[in-house]
Amino acid sequence: MNINSKTSIYGIIGHPIGHSLSPLIHNYAFENLDFNSVYVSFDVNEEDLKDAIIGIKALGIKGLNVTVPHKESVIKYLDRISDEAKLIGAVNTIKNNSGSLEGYNTDVTGFMESLKEHNVDVVGKNAVILGAGGAAKAVAVGLALLGAKSIYVCNRSIDKAKELSIHMENNFNIKSLGISYNDLNMLDEIDILINATSVGMHPNVDVSPIGEDVVAKAKFVYDIIYNPEKTLFLSYAEKYRIKYINGLDMLINQAIDSFKIWTGANFDKKIILNFLKKKDFVK
Ligand code: NAP
Repeated sequence: MNINSKTSIYGIIGHPIGHSLSPLIHNYAFENLDFNSVYVSFDVNEEDLKDAIIGIKALGIKGLNVTVPHKESVIKYLDRISDEAKLIGAVNTIKNNSGSLEGYNTDVTGFMESLKEHNVDVVGKNAVILGAGGAAKAVAVGLALLGAKSIYVCNRSIDKAKELSIHMENNFNIKSLGISYNDLNMLDEIDILINATSVGMHPNVDVSPIGEDVVAKAKFVYDIIYNPEKTLFLSYAEKYRIKYINGLDMLINQAIDSFKIWTGANFDKKIILNFLKKKDFVK
């Protein structure tokens, strides 16, 4: 990498930020395509968010990814946000368009693309989403855009589950209900079961948001966590021979979509996957 006065700067803001694979992916993409660009991490506290966003314009930073906990709170500092980001209420990609800050959500496009890649037909299906945070909102909107018939939103804080389900019914032609973990026992069959909580994520890998008895009711299981590759939740799906996927495709797809928004360039997913394999992030 040859950094000079013409190098374009991209990055990610969040707190904490150390776990992110995004710098690895984007810097590899820049290098591979011979772009004079660099992608760095910015560990930004809640109270510094406003100054950090103003700084994008002042410093001429070309684009940023946004991660926990800023995806929602960042919106008020942007000049324009995309329709999807508006529907989800969260932004994970900012483009500095000649001084105008545009917000996008590529979690939703990355998620939708991953379902298509794995030939998961969502039209007319019932889905259960575990979690009601930022990622769960993108997952819910993605499922609705792909034609799901109904969505149960199950969350530890039931108020957030209800809020998200009301939002879904208000914005889409879909049935949605906020439920508790106990309520899951009453469901007979689940077409699509998705974990969008952080339960089971590295380093707390010995826990699952739900027991195997509920997982066993599903026809397709998706954990949007990508580290570890196979969470305890996914190992239940494997035990019952249910088709499952983890969050790696969603992660890479959202990176590819952000890259395209910033640079207009396409980046080949296979090349990124091979690179992550070489680095031992993927088996
Ligand atoms: P978030 O906004 O902080 O939401 C976290 C969610 O997890 C909430 O619903 C929370 O429930 C639930 N939760 C946390 N601890 C729990 C516990 N002990 N028991 C039950 N529920 C618990 O985070 P997020 O941005 O939505 O991210 C959630 C997960 O998705 C993370 O693991 C993240 O890495 C992953 N993710 C993956 C991708 C990808 O590209 N693959 C993209 C985005 C996110 P409460 O509301 O009750 O607190």
